[in-house]
Amino acid sequence: MRIIVLLGAPGAGKGTQAAVLAGRLGLPHVATGDLFRAAVREGTPLGVEAQRYMARGELVPDRLAARLLMERLDQPDATGGVILDGFPRTRAQAEVLDGELGTRGGAIDLVLLIEVPVEELVERMSGRWICRLEGHVFNVTTNAPSRPGICDVDGSELIQRDDDRPAVVRARLDQQLGALGEVVDHYTTRGVLRTVDGRGDIAAVTERLLDAVGTVAGRGV
Ligand code: AMP
Repeated sequence: MRIIVLLGAPGAGKGTQAAVLAGRLGLPHVATGDLFRAAVREGTPLGVEAQRYMARGELVPDRLAARLLMERLDQPDATGGVILDGFPRTRAQAEVLDGELGTRGGAIDLVLLIEVPVEELVERMSGRWICRLEGHVFNVTTNAPSRPGICDVDGSELIQRDDDRPAVVRARLDQQLGALGEVVDHYTTRGVLRTVDGRGDIAAVTERLLDAVGTVAGRGV
């Protein structure tokens, strides 16, 4: 199982790049946020429990997040590997993932950190709009929809998340960068982390990410 983890602060373009990379590499894009939203929509027991945390903008407890992820990774289409987006969010989750993959004879191949300076993150996040139906992400400056206020993918209305307002962006970033730093340390120690410059347009960042994937694959790691 070839697992590539994408890491980045909120607003670094992680979700967008994960979707593009999945297409280019022919691997499923597994985003835990999407899995949770689907579980909530379907009203599964796990979704009902998770909703209490998501509604407050909090992380769902590690044991729930790990269970949801492993159920997805055990699906037949994931046997060849996945692009993982939104997990792990904490060091504890990284450790659980290592353990679960170990029992399945797998391991994390590569972790790509998309790095963007904090000031630029604040600017980008205040311009972010997502679609009401599926959470597809647009940005008024870097990735505008072709029709204003309408999702290009499914035609639903674009809305701004409360936590994307500039006033709360900075506080949210501070909080999340701490946890991200722990996950980065974990994978740096394991020797699987590659840092990629996340500035510039989407296509340029994709090429840098593909270079990092190719460099590692070329060395047979
Ligand atoms: P996202 O779309 O990645 O922003 O995720 C939306 C929500 O799903 C988050 O605010 C959390 O409540 C939950 N979530 C997604 N991934 C995780 C995770 N790895 N650990 C805990 N909660 C998560």
